[in-house]
Amino acid sequence: MSYLKDEITARVDAYDHWATRRRFGPDGPNNRRLWVLACMDERLPVDEALGIRVDSPVGGGDAHCFRNAGGIVTDDAIRSAMLTCNFFGTQEIVIVQHTQCGMLSANAKDLEAALRAKGVDIDELTLDPTLPELKLAPGGFAKWIGMMDDVDVTCMKTVETFRNHPLIPKDVVVSGWVWEVETRRLRPPVLDEEKRARTDVTSAQFGVTTPQPNRWR
Ligand SMILES: [Zn+2]
Repeated sequence: MSYLKDEITARVDAYDHWATRRRFGPDGPNNRRLWVLACMDERLPVDEALGIRVDSPVGGGDAHCFRNAGGIVTDDAIRSAMLTCNFFGTQEIVIVQHTQCGMLSANAKDLEAALRAKGVDIDELTLDPTLPELKLAPGGFAKWIGMMDDVDVTCMKTVETFRNHPLIPKDVVVSGWVWEVETRRLRPPVLDEEKRARTDVTSAQFGVTTPQPNRWR
């Protein structure tokens, strides 16, 4: 005979552990020991694309999820991945970028010019007022914006960067994926034009005629 009391007790205990897991460092990891880096775009449904549940309702908590414009390498993405992989028990990184990304839709130099035209002094900017030590070399602003020429190439390079970063342990498994907004499916990054047909993956497809300031050289 089992009593409801026992089931409720088990559920309460499980919830208590779920809610307080961060006190246990690497012994209180998220459900899948997973860190996800994804573009902030509203058409990229992280849970659906990866078959996981990042957020609540209760029972979610499969991953730490970091989203930024493009799902690209930034110092804060590195910082967050460093924390979760070294101190919160994460053993896998999954990167998701996507077709039709806004980061393909303009040249960073044009965005820089637009900000200048609005009167922003991008040469004397403090990027993070709480960390004035973090500085861009003169001329680095457009590069910092991180616009892309090709989402598949960017995805591959992003994977490579995390795999080789000294702050990410070598045994962390890193993979990268492209979500096709047009077809609502996930695929590996590819250069094969046939496999990329019917999707917008390059800035040229958005009418951008000059290459972005290159972050990969
Ligand atoms: Zn995007």
